[in-house]
Amino acid sequence: MTFQRFVATLLEVERASSRIAMVKMLAEAFRELPPEEVPLAVLLLQGRVAPEFEGLEFGVAEKEAAKALALALGRDEAETVQAVKEKGDIGAYALEVLPRRAGGLSLRHVYGELRAIAEDAGPGSQARKRERLSRLVAEASPEEAAVILRTVTGRLRLGVGDATVLEALALAFLGDRAKKPLLERAYNLTSDLAYVARLALEGEEALRQVKLEVGKPVRMMLAERLPGPEQIMEKLGPHFAEHKYDGERVQVHFDGERFWVYSRRLENITHQYPDLLEALREVQHGPFILEAEAVVTDPVTGEMRPFQNVLNRKVKHLTPELLEKYPIKGFVFELLYADGEVLIERPYSERRERLERWFRPHERLELSTKRFVETTEELVQFFDASIEAGCEGLVCKKPDGDYEAGKRGFKWVKYKRGIAGKLSDTLDLVIVGAWLGRGRRAGTYGSLLAAAYNPDEDRFETLTKVGSGFSDEDLNEVLPRRLDPYRRGERHPRVWSLLEPDVWFEPVQVIEVEAQEITLSPNHTCAFGAVQEGRGLALRFPRFVRYRDDKSPEEATTTKEVVEMYKNQWA
Ligand code: AMP
Repeated sequence: MTFQRFVATLLEVERASSRIAMVKMLAEAFRELPPEEVPLAVLLLQGRVAPEFEGLEFGVAEKEAAKALALALGRDEAETVQAVKEKGDIGAYALEVLPRRAGGLSLRHVYGELRAIAEDAGPGSQARKRERLSRLVAEASPEEAAVILRTVTGRLRLGVGDATVLEALALAFLGDRAKKPLLERAYNLTSDLAYVARLALEGEEALRQVKLEVGKPVRMMLAERLPGPEQIMEKLGPHFAEHKYDGERVQVHFDGERFWVYSRRLENITHQYPDLLEALREVQHGPFILEAEAVVTDPVTGEMRPFQNVLNRKVKHLTPELLEKYPIKGFVFELLYADGEVLIERPYSERRERLERWFRPHERLELSTKRFVETTEELVQFFDASIEAGCEGLVCKKPDGDYEAGKRGFKWVKYKRGIAGKLSDTLDLVIVGAWLGRGRRAGTYGSLLAAAYNPDEDRFETLTKVGSGFSDEDLNEVLPRRLDPYRRGERHPRVWSLLEPDVWFEPVQVIEVEAQEITLSPNHTCAFGAVQEGRGLALRFPRFVRYRDDKSPEEATTTKEVVEMYKNQWA
């Protein structure tokens, strides 16, 4: 396929009026491609040349890309850099200044060049990257160059969710959108869309055969909520409850030599945990995949410290001082693979038994504390004990539940402390729009329009306006810096809203919000009609708690969860 055709598809998709239309356009484009180019197109759609977990980044800052553009145009470097800065979008600037010409690049060639740019590293790589980029831009049409330049600077934002790509692949190669679950399963096990695309081309059997692989992150299983201990006992019966540690969830892979650590968002965060990996290397020798909660402990007392402490490790160069100041302990709670055996389809009780036999203690490693509970009383007692031990509560696990990759279900239920007069849990919502402020807030955002995620429709449905809980710094600096790059003139096709805010955003930024109550509302679209005809759900007295950069928009609270919370709030 020509790159021009690919670029035309991107433009069409951006202007699509609905998600179904997006799926159809993408499927049509996928079908036109020669099979070996489908995985490349899937990657380029995400603005990447390798799956995110591989951590292969372009390493081209906007200034460098502007210099490459200057070189391609034969213009002055400093002037071009300045002009790009003023325009604010290198793609838009390229569209203005590049001569009108037909491109004629092939998709394969562009992918190959972009990949070479990403892979180039070490001394002199900046200059080589710049030259390669400039040659590519010099051959491209203005539209092609805009996409190339936005891609290398990480600013290609199409807002095509993974679920939409999977659905388009199902329609293109299995002939039916309804076959998406087959692709979803493969994706949940490997987190690799390009690989799933290759399997879809081979057919249904190949998709059914797929297994997890050491090195490729498994999409994490998540926990549902219930309002209290009685409801948990009712739903799960006698079960295993585990302490809920307040740290960062990590999935650790080991192939016998090399380690990988993945975050909940499946980013490669191996470099953040050298001490944890050293501990594992000392006590484990064969390949495995485990999950643990990484908790920072007090260097003197050894007591657990709250989640925020983990953030201190999110720096480029983790120094020995930082490691000493914020020592880590891994509380291991899952074993997905060990001794050559995939364990995720086994029941929890069997996986846990395997984990206990396999586990070797170390001062930096501990098994999650668990207890078999048979009555509500025992559950409450164990909950109190967990709080006393410095945990957030419990995760209750169904003895016969398998590990459901990428799913949130009632095989795991979290039990956190409720605050009197408030919903017992907070919600993670995606900002999709905003109203401009008045009075004291003039010139900034007055309130934000926040939405829950509906995975069945792959869309964001509005739940609330949030205006309180923000500091002056949030309003004047942090919010504009975080949100302005995502402003758009009209509603994003994946957002469903009845309200018309002053500005719209791409659904990117996730925030945690607390509230007092969930009510029915004719103005919000969250779970519209699910509880009552003509009504959606809304939050009463919402309040911003914190930014949740560790969550992708698709990991926001789902509309189904909001319905559950609505039904459970008086229980
Ligand atoms: P939440 O983030 O509120 O949906 O709660 C689920 C999270 O609790 C998981 O993603 C883990 O990061 C964390 N967690 C802490 N301890 C455990 C445990 N013993 N089992 C499972 N998850 C745990």
